Amino acid sequence: MNSSTPNNINAAIKQANRRERALNILKEGYKFEDMGEGVIAVTKPGTTAAAYWLNMITPGCDCPDAMKGNNCKHEIAWEILQDEAKMWDAACAEYDARIEADDVPYLYAEH
Ligand SMILES: [Zn+2]
Repeated sequence: MNSSTPNNINAAIKQANRRERALNILKEGYKFEDMGEGVIAVTKPGTTAAAYWLNMITPGCDCPDAMKGNNCKHEIAWEILQDEAKMWDAACAEYDARIEADDVPYLYAEH
C-alpha cells in the first residue's frame, strides 16, 4: 500500500480519479472483510465469493489495475474505511472521556 504523494499533475489527477472510483465502489456496496493475517477479502455487491484479495503484508491487491503497479481503487477504498474507523474510534474515545468527566451537557437537551 503506497499512497505516495503525487509528484506531478498527471499523477495527482490519476490519484484523484482512483479516490473517486474507490468512493464509488464503497457507495455501490462492495464489502471489505478482514480475514486476519493482513488479508482482506473484497466482495462485489450481490455476490458472496471474494472478487479480489488485498494483502496488507505484501502489500497489494490482485486486481488487474494493481498488477500494473497502481495503487488501485480497492486499496484506496480500504484505506478510506480504515481512516473512517480511526475517526470513529477517536470520537468514541473523546465521548467516553467526556462521560467520565461528567461533561456531556447537550446530548439529552430538554424540549
Ligand atoms: Zn485492486
